[in-house]
Amino acid sequence: MSTQRPHPLLRLWRHASGHRRQIVLATTCSILNKTFDLAPPVLIGAAVDIVVRREESWFAALGIEDLRMQLVALAIATFAIWCLESLFEYLAHVLWRNLAQTIQHELRIDAYAHLQTLDLAFFEANTSGGLMAVLNDDVNQLERFLDGGADDLLQMATTVVLIGAMFFYLAPTVAWLAFVPIPLILWGSFTFQKRIAPRYAAVRAEVSALNAQLANNLGGIATIKSFTAETRENDRIATASDRYRQVNRAAIRLSSAFSPLIRIAILVGFTATLVWGGFLTLDGGLEVGAYSVLVFLTQRLLWPLTRLGETFDLYQRAMASTNRLLDLLAERPTIVDGPKSLDTIRGELRLAGVSFAYRDGHHVLHDLDLVFAAGETAAIVGPTGSGKSTLIKLLLRFYDPTTGRVTLDGHDLRELEIAALRRGIGLVSQDVFLFHGTVRDNIAYGRPDATDDELERAARIAEADDFIRSLPDGWDTVVGERGQRLSGGQRQRVSIARAVLADPPVLILDEATSAVDNETEAAIQRSLAELAKGRTTIVIAHRLSTIRHADRIHVIESGRVVESGNHDELLAHGGLYAGLWRVQTGAVQVG
Ligand code: ATP
Ligand code: MG
Repeated sequence: MSTQRPHPLLRLWRHASGHRRQIVLATTCSILNKTFDLAPPVLIGAAVDIVVRREESWFAALGIEDLRMQLVALAIATFAIWCLESLFEYLAHVLWRNLAQTIQHELRIDAYAHLQTLDLAFFEANTSGGLMAVLNDDVNQLERFLDGGADDLLQMATTVVLIGAMFFYLAPTVAWLAFVPIPLILWGSFTFQKRIAPRYAAVRAEVSALNAQLANNLGGIATIKSFTAETRENDRIATASDRYRQVNRAAIRLSSAFSPLIRIAILVGFTATLVWGGFLTLDGGLEVGAYSVLVFLTQRLLWPLTRLGETFDLYQRAMASTNRLLDLLAERPTIVDGPKSLDTIRGELRLAGVSFAYRDGHHVLHDLDLVFAAGETAAIVGPTGSGKSTLIKLLLRFYDPTTGRVTLDGHDLRELEIAALRRGIGLVSQDVFLFHGTVRDNIAYGRPDATDDELERAARIAEADDFIRSLPDGWDTVVGERGQRLSGGQRQRVSIARAVLADPPVLILDEATSAVDNETEAAIQRSLAELAKGRTTIVIAHRLSTIRHADRIHVIESGRVVESGNHDELLAHGGLYAGLWRVQTGAVQVG
């Protein structure tokens, strides 16, 4: 992160630019609220003025001669002022708090929408728990500040300006005394701010770490239980939670010192005004009314500033959160849309001189040249870890190759609109992911508008219809988080049905039938053979019986294509494939 980044408040303001009108309105209400709130000391001054100076009072100067009438007029003014104060307080609160809601809502939506555009590599480098902390905790932290903090700061500023003006008008000789603590308080606040900011940044970082750990543990609860690692995991969470407590302690030590220090500075200013102003009044240099207003005002001027500590604290926490949110929003994807949108896809995929390394720099694919002709059924086989799934991720453009090109119908994938590309390719991935929802929701995920007949047909092709019917609620059975209420083979079949329903020109099955029994697999094979007609189909499988009928089989080893051909050719070749086939069909004894 660069050190020259703009202030978070500025960045926030730019982000909130759509609400300037409401911000201005809310600001006006805050200022008016404070203005009327500051009136009582003036009213008290006026009351004293009436009873002391009588016919020469300020009200008399307005033309109200009768003393009792003067007091009645004062009472009416007081009543009106109080009503106005309440009204504007209400309006200010409603406006600020709704604004806080709107901004937190929009920031969260923006951040989430932005997150979805980021590269897969970004998600591998970050934990989902940590990202959740940004989308929830950090957004809420900001909301807490916007709720009351901005209003507080505005009211304080109004207080200082208005009372300052009154002061200098009433008693220019004493006024400066009341203001002595203010530069001190401001200086103290800025120093405080500089020192507390990194501590709050550390607090936010630990919240993320703790969240990440919690999310990880909840996801892995079955593993924790099976290895009876509960105690160890308790300790791990306790350690993360304790780190959070420790960094918070460091922040608390500093932030708690702030308010008492401010209060002392204020006390000095208040006592000085009280004494000095009193002396002046005794010597006849100041009206009694003015003196009483002065003392009240000093108190009104300085006392709210004790809250500055709290508000600043809230502000600092919010800024630490805002920074994290805006950093997330500043994250740029490298996988971005190209200019071309394809209307029709024939489905010819080609890799030319493709090498690829993940972020860690370790090369997984080496100088790969492969063609998947339009309409053919191709298979990829090879030892585990040889790069088969990685190759698929390049075809879907989850990553760009380090060198070389991947093309669809002759167009470099980087020139295509991502949505057009991905809509054209259906993937049944090796790690099936089902969403928390019904079987129907999950199968219809790629085509929410599909009819019941279409759903039924897709389920039949995936050999899923029988088991779906036997579920307690049939199609409306809730599959649980990540589909955990289904068996592994059931999950796979739901995910095949999902891809089939989408009816894409290119269908990729990565170990799609690895978890189903042989009989079910054979049935799926038969319906897929029918389905494969007229579309490019790429099948990855360890079980070679799954792919023996493919038009072309590519054998990959350590990120290189070592053999290509159909089943018979490869057997005749007598290489790696032939060896694997012999092992799997039991033609040779192993072990
Ligand atoms: P399997 O048959 O077990 O599914 P595979 O051929 O599909 O294996 P890949 O998933 O493509 O293998 O992985 C190839 C290599 O890339 C492995 O060494 C793996 O450790 C590495 N790898 C996979 N995904 C990542 C990732 N996101 N970041 C870094 N390395 C990765
Ligand atoms: Mg794989």
